[in-house]
Amino acid sequence: MSKSAKWSPKENESKRLPIYQHKSKLIQAVKDSSFLVVTGETGSGKTTQLPQYLREAGFCKDGKIGITQPRRVAAITVAQRVAQEMQCTLGKEVGYQVRFDDCTSQDTVVKYMTDGCLLREVLADPALSQYSVIILDEVHERSLNTDILLGLIKKVFTNPAKATKGRSFPLKVVVMSATLETDKLSAFLSNCPVFAIPGRTFPVTCTFGSAVGPKDLENFTPSALQVVKVALDIHTSEMAGDILVFLTGQSEIEHACDMLFEKAECIDYRYDVTDQSVDGLLILPLYGSMPTDQQRQIFQPPPPGIRKCVVATNIAATSLTIDGIKYIVDSGFVKQLNHNSRVGMDILEVVPISKSEAQQRAGRAGRTSAGKCFRIYTKEFWEKCMPEYTIPEIQRTSLTAVILTLKCLGIHDVIRFPYLDCPEERFILEALKQLYQFDAIDRRGNVTKLGELMVEFPLHPGLTRALLKAASLGCQDLLLPVAAMLSVENIFIRPGHPDKQKEADKKHRALAAKTGSMNDFATLLNVFQSCKSSDRPSAWCKENWIHWRALKSAFSVETQLRDILHRLQQKKDFPVETFDGNKSELFRRCLCTGYFTNVARRSIGKVFCTMDGHGSMVHIHPSSSLFDQEAELNWVIFHDVLATSRVYIRTVCPIRYEWVKDLLPKLHEVDAYELSSVAREEVTAEEMTKWESREAAKRQSEVSNEDA
Ligand code: ADP
Ligand code: MG
Repeated sequence: MSKSAKWSPKENESKRLPIYQHKSKLIQAVKDSSFLVVTGETGSGKTTQLPQYLREAGFCKDGKIGITQPRRVAAITVAQRVAQEMQCTLGKEVGYQVRFDDCTSQDTVVKYMTDGCLLREVLADPALSQYSVIILDEVHERSLNTDILLGLIKKVFTNPAKATKGRSFPLKVVVMSATLETDKLSAFLSNCPVFAIPGRTFPVTCTFGSAVGPKDLENFTPSALQVVKVALDIHTSEMAGDILVFLTGQSEIEHACDMLFEKAECIDYRYDVTDQSVDGLLILPLYGSMPTDQQRQIFQPPPPGIRKCVVATNIAATSLTIDGIKYIVDSGFVKQLNHNSRVGMDILEVVPISKSEAQQRAGRAGRTSAGKCFRIYTKEFWEKCMPEYTIPEIQRTSLTAVILTLKCLGIHDVIRFPYLDCPEERFILEALKQLYQFDAIDRRGNVTKLGELMVEFPLHPGLTRALLKAASLGCQDLLLPVAAMLSVENIFIRPGHPDKQKEADKKHRALAAKTGSMNDFATLLNVFQSCKSSDRPSAWCKENWIHWRALKSAFSVETQLRDILHRLQQKKDFPVETFDGNKSELFRRCLCTGYFTNVARRSIGKVFCTMDGHGSMVHIHPSSSLFDQEAELNWVIFHDVLATSRVYIRTVCPIRYEWVKDLLPKLHEVDAYELSSVAREEVTAEEMTKWESREAAKRQSEVSNEDA
């Protein structure tokens, strides 16, 4: 092959990025300091270029360069892009690792991964001895795992005595962030230097609409129609340039795309479009759980004369940069997992974005020339309903899993851990309480044997608890598929067209009915098993309106969970239990062990009331096979909660009160006082004595109960 044929056009492209002019200074800055904060506008080349610069500069001699991303899709697509730029096969020199998908090898020196994956690696190797450089990327997103990693890095690597422990060479840490909060980050990391990449941005004119006002705040279900209208207006009346639409989630996006397809088809380009050089619209969805081959299309320029319209979740705000965008349609909302103290649970909610987030969205239109941002909400909505800044995830979601991780890392004092922004103490206490309820920690806050097993699974602790219960009873085959199915995207296809929707619903009901006992967990198990045993699994999926791709990943996840379990079962103290109840109950009894924190009881009509002390009123989600069967139910457990106009519980299973009777008191057994003392290292002697005498009294009463 001649030299010129090998020469990649991408090389030229990357030389045009703002970061390129600062290449040597950046490399020097990393050499000069153990910690460095790098900041620059989205799209300046931080994520794709800096790791390559550092590799060229010889930073891979001693170890790998690891780059974390809060989002899985970002880790995968960026790794793909960098592999392409470096002209190597993905998984060789450049690879990625995300939950349940490891695309790295012995040769991998530039490794993109989710922050959750790095956190798991810290558990196995706290010194991160395989790495020469760790780059924490997208720190401004303030994801829970990135925040925890920041704290861990501060705790270990800013302390000279600890920093070299377990390492033969010092670790370099680079923290990358879009423009916000760089002083705060530098101060947090021993006042480390900040390297700012000057950006080039063009003005973006923002206009407010009339579709959403303050009165819509309470009952807002994002209507795809509102954004579709605006997008089509842009398409017909604005000059050439691509459109990026921000919506809330997969189903709204798919719905909007369907509608756009239909309506754009009716446009007669000879008469209806102002800019006659535009003669078509290419509609592309973009959301986190989308197949990566489909995602690749997003980055490709549209064919000549065609306008690209990407309908995306917040992922396109900073994680992924799409070139050529000139118009933004901002729905003003985002789907977010929030801890709702009214309900006492983590709830997937659709909430208004912050003003800073709205500015970030608008900024996507001004990368290469002046752009326009169309906000579908009113100025009044902006003023009254949108907060200034987004609250960091650590201050709004359940901390159960990360607190268990910290505990397993030997960090007992989880209250005085160096958090960039402290979570409320009651959130920490709630997490400790939940861990205690799951038997992952004891009353003194020490990790139990079970807790050590639980931390190995990249699953919600409740689900892990149920799985381990099943494993100890020898029936893991019932729970492994369920855990896998709940770890992948939604497997049920819901077509936009009403007739097709009816057909899909009918098929889904039939799959549920096959299990004999209407129970959404059993349905998941049934779908998994039926498809797996089918001769033509993809055809089976098509026929039953099931996402084949999602199911395929569930198969892979199940194998991986099985491997983890198998490894743990080799340990000699893996718990073994027997079950002398009714075998048909076994499945649901195992689920109860992990989901007793999510128990609800029917109160009146179709309304259920949760049993966690909050007594929240919830409804069964229409996607459940138990929807409309409420009258026959009394007690249920559920997997998660979604709040729109109502609070809905999803993936529901009927249970009997006797199965949770002994577990429910655990929800109220410990009080915050006890746990607040175990959360701190220094328990006063007085507290300890009080505590121990209470324990002794409890044991005494247990003995006398047994006697009776
Ligand atoms: P930053 O991290 O500073 O936001 P990036 O390194 O992500 O910037 O992006 C730099 C450039 O690389 C952008 O112009 C973006 O469009 C391009 N790019 C990133 N990922 C891909 C991809 N998967 N395919 C094509 N282009 C990409
Ligand atoms: Mg980036």
